[in-house]
This record gives sequence, C-alpha cells and structure tokens, in this order.
Amino acid sequence: MKRLADKVALITGAGRGIGAAIAFAFAREGAAVVLAELDIETARQTAEQIKAQTGGRALAVQTDVTQSASVQHAVSEAEHAFGALDVLVNNAGINVFCDPLTMTDDDWRRCFAVDLDGVWNGCRAVLPGMVERGAGSIVNIASTHAFKIIPGCFPYPVAKHGVIGLTRALGIEYAPRNVRVNAIAPGYIETQLTHNWWNEQADPAAAKQATLDLQPMKRIGRPEEVAMTAVFLASDEAPFINATCITVDGGRSALYHD
Ligand code: NDP
Repeated sequence: MKRLADKVALITGAGRGIGAAIAFAFAREGAAVVLAELDIETARQTAEQIKAQTGGRALAVQTDVTQSASVQHAVSEAEHAFGALDVLVNNAGINVFCDPLTMTDDDWRRCFAVDLDGVWNGCRAVLPGMVERGAGSIVNIASTHAFKIIPGCFPYPVAKHGVIGLTRALGIEYAPRNVRVNAIAPGYIETQLTHNWWNEQADPAAAKQATLDLQPMKRIGRPEEVAMTAVFLASDEAPFINATCITVDGGRSALYHD
C-alpha cells in the first residue's frame, strides 16, 4: 500500500527545487498532485515528468501565493480535477537578505508577501474544506532561519519565525477538527536558491566551501531529503504530530561554532 494512496495534495512553488521534489515524492506514494507555481512553464514541465516517471496524476496551475484569489483559484482547480484536498504544502518562498537599516520598504514587503502572507493565503484557502471534512494535513516549509539568526539575512528570518507562529497557532486552533498543521525547517539544501546565494557572494567558490565546512555531515542536503519528511507529515503515519516543526539540517543548527 502506498503511503499517500488516494490522497490529493497541493504544493506551492513546485516547479523546481524542494517543491518539485515533494511533488515527485508524493506522486510516487500515490497522491494526485497539484503544482501551484508562479512560473507555469516549469510547473508544466515538472508535472509532465511526474506523470511520465511515476504514472501518477499531476496538474500544473499558475499561482501567485501573494494573491489570495490566485491561491483560491488553484484550490478550486485542484478540487475540480482530483476532488477534495487532503494535503497542502506551503513551500513557495524567496530569499530577501538585507541590512536592516538600508533595506527598502519594497524588500520588506516582498519578503513578507511571499514568505508569510503566502503561507497564510494557502492555509486560509484549504482550511474551510478540511475543517468541514474533519481531516487534513498542512505542511509549511519554514527554515532553520526560523529559530537561528545569521547577520545580514534580514528580514527573511523574521518572516520564517512567523511561519512557525502561524503553524503553531493554526495547529492548535483546528486540532479538535483533526486538521494537523506542521512545519519543516530545512538547513542548507542544494537548490537554485542556494546557488543564487553563493553566486551573489564576492567569491562564490569560497562561499560554497565555507558553507560545506560548517556542515556536520560535510555536505548540504538534497531536496529529496526534505521531501521524505513531508511525505511522513502528510501521511497517516503522523496522526498525533501537530503544531510542531521538524528540522532537516544534518545537525547544522545544533553545532556550536565561533
Ligand atoms: P527555489 O527558488 O528553488 O524554488 C522556489 C519556487 O517557488 C520557485 O519555483 C519559484 O518560482 C516559486 N515561487 C516564488 N515566488 C512564488 C509565488 N509568489 N507564488 C508561487 N510560487 C512562487 O527555492 P527552494 O526550493 O530552495 O525553497 C523552497 C522553500 O524552502 C522556500 O520556502 C525556502 O525559503 C525554503 N528553504 C530553502 C532552503 C534551501 O537551502 N534551499 C533552506 C531553508 C528553507 P519562480 O521560478 O517563478 O521564481
């Protein structure tokens, strides 16, 4: 029996990176997946690959998580195609790394629009149906920045702290209706986001090496390793796990260093 057999899942930002890995893993475990993604071309390509490689059902829907109407539309399309949603993964996110006092108002707003409003827009769109049916699992992709601070990364960690707050608040609010809300805090995971960050540094090769040197496992994570945890939280193997966060960072956030 596949672990997500007969479930319907919507994953935001699933055209590439961690979101795409989650969509693949869910499809392999039997879920019908909806890729709600800003870039419809990458979403369509990923959906086609999922269908070809897993034999599962996948649908791409152009979605901007900063717009609640756009997220509502994606949920309607998902339900029209596959039926009621069992699982939502709020994965779409962007890095906005600034110095607090030179940051523009626009940087502050676009960070919160995607990284926190986007998560709330997703939750708000699926919760009424999940509450009514008395079942559902929401998985929010936070970050180790949700509980650790690296200077110069403002305001991303502020928004990610908010994701944990939202996860805990909604997890408690809807626990009596059997809707679980959890988060995953990835450490460094090798995606476009990570490569973009290294490439923005004065010496990208040195920046990458510095990242690797501080990893207890001497490597960074793979998107598939976050996806495995998302499968677990989305599945019926985690019925009493709610309002919490699982860290997937190879131990990096436990390591003390000067
Ligand atoms: P990527 O940049 O590789 O992928 C993010 C995806 O989200 C892209 O496809 C992007 O689309 C999409 N997206 C961006 N904005 C929106 C929007 N407004 N509406 C819908 N989709 C959008 O990132 P990762 O896979 O690395 O990151 C995924 C999540 O994991 C994020 O929340 C990130 O903060 C978190 N994370 C990542 C870590 C890492 O090391 N990679 C570490 C900790 C947390 P487009 O191509 O159009 O930009």
